[in-house]
Amino acid sequence: MSTIKQSLAAIRSTLPAGVDLVAVSKFHPAEAVAEAYDAGQRLFGESRVQELLDKAARLPQDIKWHFIGHLQTNKVRALVASRCVSLIESVDSERLLRLIDSESLRAGIVSRVLVQAHVAKEETKFGFLPAELLDFFARGGYRDLKATHICGLMGMASNTDDEARVRADFEALARLKHDIQSSAPDLVGFDILSMGMSHDYPLAIAAGANLVRVGTAIFGERY
Ligand SMILES: *Cc1c(COP(=O)(O)O)cnc(C)c1O
Repeated sequence: MSTIKQSLAAIRSTLPAGVDLVAVSKFHPAEAVAEAYDAGQRLFGESRVQELLDKAARLPQDIKWHFIGHLQTNKVRALVASRCVSLIESVDSERLLRLIDSESLRAGIVSRVLVQAHVAKEETKFGFLPAELLDFFARGGYRDLKATHICGLMGMASNTDDEARVRADFEALARLKHDIQSSAPDLVGFDILSMGMSHDYPLAIAAGANLVRVGTAIFGERY
């Protein structure tokens, strides 16, 4: 068995029923994706539009691609119009959300997205603040989306060895998802909680994640 196959099998054996695995293949070649595909993996994550489109063109059609990186506004049309992406996990501003919606309407498709929340202390500058998200949902900001379905919440924990801190970040994300649902009773299909990476996904699952995004532990280091 290849290392990728073995790593995938090891990770899958730790996932409870109901938790889906995104194999994050960014910066790894299409051959590595093909190896994971041959081991049964169908869900992959990419963080750059061009890289996703290149791989999607070369690899089997039944792969589901998730976009997980910061999405620049000038790349939205290409990504949406390609119809290659099954979930945009990293919608980090209302402006980006509105743009995805107008481009999806234009392309004649419905885009599935997650909103990305920023709870980690020192990490990425991207993502809605929890208060911004609560405000957006409480005022029904999703109701006038015409071609976009918000399927849930994505987030990251602080990048630290302090397990208590990581656990607290994941619990804050889980609570935020719950609070959003309480504040917007007519919000349907807001079910996905995407959190956890190679080094912290077990903690994320313990806090309620039903989608984990694992790269390094499957494909090795990125160079
Ligand atoms: C790269 C990336 C991952 C995967 O990280 P690993 O540490 O390699 O598992 C998960 N989520 C996002 C948003 C990423 O950019």
